Amino acid sequence: PTPFYDAIIIGAGAAGLLCAAQAGQRGLKVLLIDHADKVAEKIRISGGGRCNFTNRDLDVRAPHKHFVGQNPQFCRSALSRFTPDDFIALIERHGIAYHEKHKGQLFADRSAEDIIQMLLAECADGGVTHWQPCAVQSVTAIPDEAGARYRLETGRGTVHAHSLVIATGGLSIPKIGATDFGYRVATQFGLPLVERRPGLVPLTFDGAGWEPYAQLAGLALPVEISTGSKKERMAFLEDLLFTHRGLSGPAVLQISSYWQPGTPLAINLAPSQNMAALLQDAKARSRKLIANELSGHVPSRLADAWSQQSADWQRPINEASDKALLRLAEQLSRWELIPTGTEGYKKAEVTLGGIDTKALAQQTMESRTQPGLYFIGEVVDITGWLGGYNFQWAWASAHACAEALAPC
Ligand code: FAD
Repeated sequence: PTPFYDAIIIGAGAAGLLCAAQAGQRGLKVLLIDHADKVAEKIRISGGGRCNFTNRDLDVRAPHKHFVGQNPQFCRSALSRFTPDDFIALIERHGIAYHEKHKGQLFADRSAEDIIQMLLAECADGGVTHWQPCAVQSVTAIPDEAGARYRLETGRGTVHAHSLVIATGGLSIPKIGATDFGYRVATQFGLPLVERRPGLVPLTFDGAGWEPYAQLAGLALPVEISTGSKKERMAFLEDLLFTHRGLSGPAVLQISSYWQPGTPLAINLAPSQNMAALLQDAKARSRKLIANELSGHVPSRLADAWSQQSADWQRPINEASDKALLRLAEQLSRWELIPTGTEGYKKAEVTLGGIDTKALAQQTMESRTQPGLYFIGEVVDITGWLGGYNFQWAWASAHACAEALAPC
């Protein structure tokens, strides 16, 4: 007879591992399948190898603050039933030491590998059967016979399941196993999709307009970055990094999830200073070159590159006109530029868009139209900010689903 499982979970990443473990521990017979050679490679490379596994600042009552999607409120139910404290409690039970870095971001002290080993131990505890690497060739809904509602053809043979959980993540970093499998299954069963695009991604600037800034590659500085018209303006105070092809760093990764192609970004390169007043003040007491004066307030490479842009700015500050100094101050505090594009899925940390949340029940992650079919983690149209929010969504949606899965 065909092997039967209460639940088959496809994708042994963050969401799939936790969901399998919790469903197994609730007594369900669970099969976890992943096509990649190595388990949870995205956890392994996350947070610079230390996995920023959650964020203490998450406000579960106001998910729109830290999550992007057509309906960020969708994640409220799951996030409030499995909070950052719940994941911290799990980490502590496994004796994994961690620390807070910046703005509530929690990282493993030693290595992301500790988080992976913890999730595998939890799966073992739940008696989860884990097939990896194992490809899934097809998924079919079958007439419910003795509880079996899905048939899967896999690299290790045919299997039947009562429930099927899709946890195959997004499209970013294809070289470590990302695929569009989840979106294809959704389409097969008639679930709507929200258009996908790279998120938390460096932005690129092509052409002659970028030439003056290309020399700044490697430079990092704190900025305020914003996008969107007045009503929907989104802004971040974070570090900006100049790269050979454009801009990166936390400021740009964060804003990239809100930026609409073709629209401008505004960057304040000296966010904590009143540049107009500082330059006027310097004019009254100094004979230094403008670039030298500027370098007291912004990195000197930036001061040099900036003042080279106009003959009016290449002179001693006491000889500069008030108008020229005001223009300089304005441009530094409101640098407007239109990115040509993004570095794409090769460099993106996440995928925006995905399974339309309208098609899922927010308490359980189950399809509203296809009984027994669930979608969890990044494959859903919920994307978190940089800083541990994406893993927290993976854990919370996995937990909501695991609680809802029923034995047959
Ligand atoms: P994943 O963890 O991506 O797991 C999906 C699994 O499905 C993979 O194992 C894959 O092999 C498998 N799969 C895919 N297609 C198939 C198929 N056809 N058949 C079988 N299996 C399949 N988020 C944070 O919160 N904090 C961080 O520090 C952080 N750092 C990151 C750093 C980088 C470089 C990247 C790329 C992302 C980072 N993220 C971080 C985002 C985070 O890794 C993801 O949001 C999270 O892993 C999503 O979990 P998931 O379980 O939905 O998908």
